[in-house]
Amino acid sequence: MSQITTNLMLVRQRLELAALAANREPEDIQLLAVSKTFPARAIEEAMHAGQSAFGENYVQEGVEKIQELAKLRPWLEWHFIGPLQSNKTREVAEHFDWVHSIDRLKIAERLSTQRAEFPDLGDLQVCIQLNVSAEESKSGVSLNEAELLCDSVAKLPNIILRGLMAIPEPSSDIAQQRAAFAAVRECFLGIKVKHSNDIGYEFFDTLSMGMSDDLESAIAEGSTMVRIGSAIFGKRNKIKT
Ligand SMILES: *Cc1c(COP(=O)(O)O)cnc(C)c1O
Repeated sequence: MSQITTNLMLVRQRLELAALAANREPEDIQLLAVSKTFPARAIEEAMHAGQSAFGENYVQEGVEKIQELAKLRPWLEWHFIGPLQSNKTREVAEHFDWVHSIDRLKIAERLSTQRAEFPDLGDLQVCIQLNVSAEESKSGVSLNEAELLCDSVAKLPNIILRGLMAIPEPSSDIAQQRAAFAAVRECFLGIKVKHSNDIGYEFFDTLSMGMSDDLESAIAEGSTMVRIGSAIFGKRNKIKT
């Protein structure tokens, strides 16, 4: 068995155990395989091991792989999870199924307009990125700004508001990990409850949080989509972070 296949089994096992420990159904938590810096053949290998959703951080790198794997497109779901500048939105609108990293209305508006040119792909699924650790350098909106941005994005055509995404500051302290994820969940539930009858919130069901080192804490705090890179594909070269 290949390393990627073995790793995928181990990650799925972690996901299941974490779900059971939290009294949740494993099927309610999606696994996104983050393939940034790894070649198309690694993605193909993961696909043969049953993985269909892949996350990429860099527009050019992601689009290259999507094109390289064009023949497999019907079986693959592509998620853009990295920082997105406005001059790159068109390529994302043309190639991806999801964007997790919306943190400005302008980016969402551009994606909305540009997605109309690619009706075959259907609506673009998007999450608003929260800056939960409130670090200056990180992208994402504050917990206070999230609802306002959600409200504007919910009204845009060609894109569907799916939920919130967060990348808390890495910490080896479980209590600290869980506190950050809990804050994201509370923000998510607050918005969901308040807008449960509003147009544009019909599919507001996604909490994208948890990576290789904090998957268990994220699932304990309600994550519905974990984004796992190194635990599946191995260590990345530290050229880009
Ligand atoms: C790289 C990355 C991941 C995966 O991180 P690992 O620690 O390798 O699992 C998840 N989410 C985002 C936004 C990333 O950039």
